[in-house]
Amino acid sequence: MPIDPSDVKVIRAEDVLRQENPDTWWKKLYLPAVVGGLATTLRNFVKNLANVRGLPTIRYPEERRDYGDRFRGRHYLKKRPDGQPRCTACMMCATACPADCIYIVGGEHPDPAIEKYPVRFEIDGLRCIMCGYCIDACPEDAIAMTKEYEWAGYNREDFIWDKEYLLNWRDEKIVEDGYQPYEDEVSKYRMSRGTL
Ligand code: SF4
Ligand code: SF4
Repeated sequence: MPIDPSDVKVIRAEDVLRQENPDTWWKKLYLPAVVGGLATTLRNFVKNLANVRGLPTIRYPEERRDYGDRFRGRHYLKKRPDGQPRCTACMMCATACPADCIYIVGGEHPDPAIEKYPVRFEIDGLRCIMCGYCIDACPEDAIAMTKEYEWAGYNREDFIWDKEYLLNWRDEKIVEDGYQPYEDEVSKYRMSRGTL
């Protein structure tokens, strides 16, 4: 059955918008909105002033939060007792990495008991999404994450963490400013199961 044109109600977008946001001179003045915004700011300012100790913000960097043990910050490479990397360049971490930010070049190790070692091992810190998959994938427990979340640089190259840096930054930080190392949860879990 054809629709009777008199039954059709035309709704124009401009009309709906005008209805929701009427162009009144009062609104066009913007003064009520400005005064309302200032009043909200003032109200919160006074409220916070009366409750400075209860504020959720902290005075960073003088004050820092202690993040939980499951926090995933910058990686480090673990060492063997002789100081060499535990990593055997098996590429499992690079394969598991969803951000494709681990670059490894493997080489033959002079010790026949160790098949390979990483000639190059780099993580692009700017691409890393701190998912921790590389830690889970490592069969040697050679890589771990820390609670370290502060890093800065002048260019992209400063955020390429190479093998030497990943092996040593944590030790240097412990000596320099008493950095509290944190053994990652995966290692603890494996140790508790006797699989490490
Ligand atoms: S934490 Fe995730 S994104 Fe970062 S290097 Fe490891 S696997 Fe890749
Ligand atoms: S998974 Fe572990 S042993 Fe294998 S390349 Fe990565 S860090 Fe090295």
